[in-house]
Amino acid sequence: MKATIAVLPGDGIGPEVTTCATELLRAVADKNGHEFQFVEGMIGGCAIDATGAPLPDETLAICEGADAILLGAVGGPQWSDPTASVRPEDGLLKLRQHFGLFANLRPVKTYPALVEHAPLRADLLQDVDILFVRELVSGIYFGDRQEQGDGDVSHDTMRYHRSEVEQVVNVAIRAAQGRRKKLCSVDKANVLASMRLWRRTVVEVHEEYADVELEHLLVDAATMHLLTRPASFDVIVAGNMFGDILSDEASVLAGSLGMLPSASLRSDQFGLYEPVHGSAPDIAGQGKANPIGMFLSAAMMLRYSLQLESEARSIEMAIDAALADGLRTADIAGKSGNAVSTSEFAAVVASKL
Ligand code: NAD
Repeated sequence: MKATIAVLPGDGIGPEVTTCATELLRAVADKNGHEFQFVEGMIGGCAIDATGAPLPDETLAICEGADAILLGAVGGPQWSDPTASVRPEDGLLKLRQHFGLFANLRPVKTYPALVEHAPLRADLLQDVDILFVRELVSGIYFGDRQEQGDGDVSHDTMRYHRSEVEQVVNVAIRAAQGRRKKLCSVDKANVLASMRLWRRTVVEVHEEYADVELEHLLVDAATMHLLTRPASFDVIVAGNMFGDILSDEASVLAGSLGMLPSASLRSDQFGLYEPVHGSAPDIAGQGKANPIGMFLSAAMMLRYSLQLESEARSIEMAIDAALADGLRTADIAGKSGNAVSTSEFAAVVASKL
């Protein structure tokens, strides 16, 4: 098949992991007779420096002409001035909103090869396989806000419309139907009106799906249950902010934030694929970045936007094989200290396709 992929490396370790991912995708295309065209655009801090805008029109045009978007990460200390009028993250939020990418899928699973280095007891990490479905284009990250520079009062508004909750809960429930048929909805219905609407809507949508077991958790309790009984969860659906925080918390289950992928989808096949991690300025340019989150994001792109399931599986299996062989980047090397660089890790994964 022929596909055009918009590649937005961004800042910090973004370009390092994105380069490895496009090389891996080229290898997948060569092996399977596909033709992938990669078109690169700027986003985030580097785009602010070059054009003044975190998401230049030219980048948006590249994305509009593509079948899918592959993104590294944005941000860094040089663009973190709280009084700045534009921020790198604005580019990301605008991109998600522009394309109406309302459902953010973040799978988290444990790797048997890494369990010994995890901060949680090994028995708790047996068979952890969770799919987070996070609402991505509404809630408190997009609600009315007032920012007063150095003033004494600011506010952000958590606002949801029933239809926004319905569409993301439908995605989550259908995903659960194809998995272990369990849905956990996370909210803060005991305090927030918007979260009472969330819970009511979840209950109503669930009435159509008798085969899926539904559990509700308040977000504060959910943070604890995620660490004390992670294997009991199948699909977790949450609003924008709670989904963001909980899925980052869940990265400790996988071994490192660098291992987690994400897909941001709408109702058709178009999607934005990016690792969950940020630009990691503390390790940028040192060849220490773990490319697994980016590779798994590329695999999700093959699966959801290009319908190439077996090619997606080939990437996932190559990563499993590299880890089983003992290959580690610094973040998952534990005390052994036997870490390989980002590009060395990537080369071994490509050789195992
Ligand atoms: P971060 O995810 O960049 O880093 C957190 C920690 O995890 C750091 O110690 C980092 O070294 C480590 N880490 C992250 N990814 C890794 C990888 N692939 N391999 C090995 N180690 C990895 O979060 P942060 O430090 O809070 O934020 C840094 C910048 O990134 C900030 O400007 C923030 O706004 C931005 N950010 C961007 C995104 C995004 O682009 N989607 C997401 C989160 C944070």
